[in-house]
Amino acid sequence: MTRLSKLSRSLVGKTAIVTGAASGMGRATAFLLADEGASVAVVDLDQAKVNAVVQAIQNEYGAQRAIGFAVDVRDTEQLQTVVDKTVAVLGSLDIVINNAGISLSSPATSSNDDFLAAWETTMAINLSAYIHLIRAALPHLKQSSSGRIVNVASTESIVATPTLSAYSASKSGVAGLTRSLAVELGKDGITVNCICPGPINTGMTEAIPAEMKSKYAQRHVALRRYGEPEEVAQMTVSLCMPAMSFVTGASIVVDGGMTIRHT
Ligand code: NAD
Repeated sequence: MTRLSKLSRSLVGKTAIVTGAASGMGRATAFLLADEGASVAVVDLDQAKVNAVVQAIQNEYGAQRAIGFAVDVRDTEQLQTVVDKTVAVLGSLDIVINNAGISLSSPATSSNDDFLAAWETTMAINLSAYIHLIRAALPHLKQSSSGRIVNVASTESIVATPTLSAYSASKSGVAGLTRSLAVELGKDGITVNCICPGPINTGMTEAIPAEMKSKYAQRHVALRRYGEPEEVAQMTVSLCMPAMSFVTGASIVVDGGMTIRHT
């Protein structure tokens, strides 16, 4: 049967780097990229957890489809090594998913030392690491026929929660970085978008008691529930498809209708 459309939704032959890929949305994104045919570089802090994700992909699709790196994304030199080894082992680099992130409480009234520690750690991981990885990857993305960058921001770049000023500022920074790079890299055919997830069941939210999550979702989320990591990964991976060739600079909300709910 001949397809009637022109653009490809296949990721066969593409290579992606996913940070924070040992847990939550990063892991779901790595698995979905692999399911759609891409080879994946799995980046996270803990070697054993990285190995588990790499092993799962290799068991399903073969040894040549995944590589792992136990790396702190704050280490700029290590990010360069991740890029170099990914290209050397997997053959190319077409897709960068900046997803590794942390959420630290940073009340404006806390002590100078506490506030500064939370602020600087948050900015280093949630924002600075994103641009460092992109800069290391750029020479390869420029050679791709469909270079794709997806940055994971948050609904906290649109709405706000008390005591999360560092997190909210970092995620707003990600949205700004995304728009600026989309304009700068458009001439190279590279698209740059960001995802704004709402409340999702991941490592980041696992300490919140189920009852509190349910109460929050009933009050604030149109779909009356937390989202699952793969529901976000489906949007992230869609943005990576060759067919997704005219969307760039966008902040795409994946929040079950949280930010649009008024009552
Ligand atoms: P998660 O805790 O399950 O996964 C985050 C991963 O990032 C972890 O595996 C962690 O080890 C890794 N990581 C943290 N710091 C790192 C570092 N310095 N170097 C390398 N890896 C590091 O949480 P998640 O919810 O899947 O988070 C993924 C992204 O989604 C984050 O950017 C987060 O801010 C964002 N987000 C989460 C939610 C939510 O409700 N869960 C909502 C909006 C946005």
